Amino acid sequence: MKITLSTIKADVGSIGGHTQPTEKMLQAARERIAQACQKGLLLDGMVTHTGDDIALIMSHTHGDNNKDVHLFAWDTFVYATKFAQEAGCYAAGQDLLVDAPSSNVRGAGPGVAEITFEHAGKDPRRAEAFMVVAADKCGPGAFNLPFFLAFADPMYCAGLMLPGLIKGFTFEIIDMSTHDHADHVIMLHAPEDYYKIAMLLRDNERFGIKAIYSRAYNEQAYSASTDRLHNIAGKYTGKDDPIALIRTQGIFPAPEELISPLVKAHFVGGDARGSHVMPIMPVAINTPVTGPYCVPIISSLVFSLSAEGKFSDQYVDVFGQKVWDWVRLHAQQKAIEMRSQGWSGAAMLPYGELEYSGYRQTLESLLQEFKVVQR
Ligand code: MG
Ligand code: MG
Repeated sequence: MKITLSTIKADVGSIGGHTQPTEKMLQAARERIAQACQKGLLLDGMVTHTGDDIALIMSHTHGDNNKDVHLFAWDTFVYATKFAQEAGCYAAGQDLLVDAPSSNVRGAGPGVAEITFEHAGKDPRRAEAFMVVAADKCGPGAFNLPFFLAFADPMYCAGLMLPGLIKGFTFEIIDMSTHDHADHVIMLHAPEDYYKIAMLLRDNERFGIKAIYSRAYNEQAYSASTDRLHNIAGKYTGKDDPIALIRTQGIFPAPEELISPLVKAHFVGGDARGSHVMPIMPVAINTPVTGPYCVPIISSLVFSLSAEGKFSDQYVDVFGQKVWDWVRLHAQQKAIEMRSQGWSGAAMLPYGELEYSGYRQTLESLLQEFKVVQR
């Protein structure tokens, strides 16, 4: 059976600041998911949150970019927004940037990651396992380093040396700086294009990994949301907190290989007012953002998918375990170290990235007060 996994996420309001949605908002989304399963639009679905972002994790048979599934997700976020407004939540409806999308929520605010594949139940995919990774208080480029390393570097994924993976993976990299309604993408192949891929992915603000494909089997392994909200809205509307869907095990990296680069707690752009550089901290699912200065967070769930497309009865919360406590402490120490230099240099994002935030207005008005004095 051909199955599509769709994960669609949005920030439609949170308690007291950019912390987490209310229980009523989450419950509203859960009710809608249950109805959609009953009506047959979805095979299965569940609702989580990572910081202030609600994620709808869904399986169905309608393919990528399906109008009914996308509009269902949109209407679910609109419905949750009502409860956010009722409770006086901060930034109610924040990521719903248009009145109503015509057919697809890409470019309308919510982040989307989707993969469609044949769930054959035979080699090379006797079992289907997948991982959902969501991050808050950072942009899509936060996924560049860890998932490049996991799919291209045997120092992090020794599985790349196995016969099923040794041909490597194709990276579909998107230029996120474009403003038209088209995707500007390039296909590069690891291992031979390793340095070229690094050349692009080093710039977390401009380039992102949109998809990754197995070269040996021509199967999609990875899909991530890569829309930059300021390119849609023309102003700062919150960071573009990303979500990714990753098929795992067998011909793809295993969960432990996928998450191994995250022990670095690497520095990413985002954080308070989306304007700083801070380490990303792995956390349990449904964690609010309360860390020092909005330290960016990342959650990860792994699922098995039954032949009928069901997954939500049981899952594993990868970072919700004590074994990640040391990495959290490491992230905390890196965060405190970076925050000790406040606004100076590398601690804040460059002005190009602040362009859409209020900081730019302060700078512009100061620039107008400059006087030209002849030497
Ligand atoms: Mg927010
Ligand atoms: Mg968020």
